[in-house]
Amino acid sequence: MALRQIAKAFASLPLPPASRVALTRLADMDDAVLDTWALALLRGVQQPVDPALVPFLAAALQVYWVRMAAALEEDGLQPLEAPGLCPVCGSPPIAGTLRLESHLYRSRYLHCSLCATAWHLVRIQCSHCDATDGIRYQSIDGHFPAVSAETCEKCKTYIKIMNMEKDPELDPVADDVTSIALDILLGEAGWRRTAINPALLTPEE
Ligand SMILES: [Zn+2]
Ligand SMILES: [Zn+2]
Repeated sequence: MALRQIAKAFASLPLPPASRVALTRLADMDDAVLDTWALALLRGVQQPVDPALVPFLAAALQVYWVRMAAALEEDGLQPLEAPGLCPVCGSPPIAGTLRLESHLYRSRYLHCSLCATAWHLVRIQCSHCDATDGIRYQSIDGHFPAVSAETCEKCKTYIKIMNMEKDPELDPVADDVTSIALDILLGEAGWRRTAINPALLTPEE
């Protein structure tokens, strides 16, 4: 499986001791247990997954689903009835980007948290409930000027919007992590996000 291949590739790299212990544990684990944990992660549930193994499991799931998504014909894809979900795998978007390409200029694309598909959604519309009223943009003064949070008063969710015009190098997954201060601020204010980023999961008490 992809997970075993990823673990093998990482084993030859210089790693922190905790990661090396996690990889050793992973090598001895039963495939059935790993399948159960993978399904839990797909449902957005961290329990009973060993937090130290989450990044490796998430990477393996992404490899599998990106490969599946790449094999599909673009013409055969249709938006799902449920708003805001990836038309390929049904996962929530991890972030949105405002694009720079001339034919897409300032268009908003959502990025799948699992299979890396990007799909268009008009701007100033909630990616979770489709509401167009009560949409606001929040950011932290002086920090991450290219990343803001689009909040929806109706469903109380938010999604980060990354403005490629301000920073063409932005990455929806990596910069979701670097802008974690925004998540902390919004979480404290009662807003919730719909997609997990495996790199932001923390061990539960
Ligand atoms: Zn997807
Ligand atoms: Zn909403």
